[in-house]
Amino acid sequence: MKAPPFLQGKITFENQVVPGFAAEVAAIPGGEGIFECLQCGTCSGVCSVAPYMDYTPRRLINMVRAGFKDEVLHSRTVWLCTGCYACAVNCPAGIHITDVMYALKRLAIRNGSHPRRFPIPVLVSEFIRNVRRTGRSNEAELVVRVAMKVNPLRLLRAAPTGLKLLRTGRMHIRGAKIEDPRRLDSMLESVSEAGK
Ligand code: SF4
Ligand code: SF4
Repeated sequence: MKAPPFLQGKITFENQVVPGFAAEVAAIPGGEGIFECLQCGTCSGVCSVAPYMDYTPRRLINMVRAGFKDEVLHSRTVWLCTGCYACAVNCPAGIHITDVMYALKRLAIRNGSHPRRFPIPVLVSEFIRNVRRTGRSNEAELVVRVAMKVNPLRLLRAAPTGLKLLRTGRMHIRGAKIEDPRRLDSMLESVSEAGK
C-alpha cells in the first residue's frame, strides 16, 4: 500500500522497506559490523559534517538495518561524508562506517538513485562517464555538463571565470584523449570482475 500524498516522505510502511538491504550492505567489506551497532551516537558526535546531513551517521546505520533502501540511497548524507575516518576510529563496535559510506555511494550510482540535483553525485557520475569515454578528464565539458544538470543559471555566473581560464590556457575546450579508450574499458571491466 502506497502512502497518501500528504504522508509521503514522512511514513514508511512495513511493506515498503527492503529486508535484504541490511544483508546486502553487511556483505560489503567493512559493512560486516552494522548489526553490532550500539546506536551510541559517537559517530554522529565526532562527524564534522553531521549538522549538514539529512540523516546523521548513527541514524543512517539504523536505517540500513531497518531496510530503508530508498531513503538511504537518495540521502545526501553519503555524499556529504568527506571520508575523514573520525567515526570509524572512534566507533566502540569497530564498524568501518567510512567504508560503508563509500559502498553506499557506489550502490546509489549503480542504481541511479542518488539525489538528482545535488552536485556531488552528479559530478562523480559525469567524471566517470567522461574518463570512461576518452581516458582523460575534460574540465570544460565536465563543468558544463554538471551545471546543466544541477543549475544551468550557474553557468552564466561562472562564464567570466571560465573565459579567463580558457584565455590563459588553464582550461581547454577540446579535451585530450588516450589512443584507444576501448583498452581502458576492458581494463576497468576486468577490475570490476575481479572485485565481484
Ligand atoms: S559509533 Fe559505532 S556503535 Fe556507535 S552509533 Fe556509530 S556506528 Fe553505531
Ligand atoms: S568519515 Fe564521513 S561519516 Fe565518518 S566522521 Fe568523517 S565525514 Fe563523518
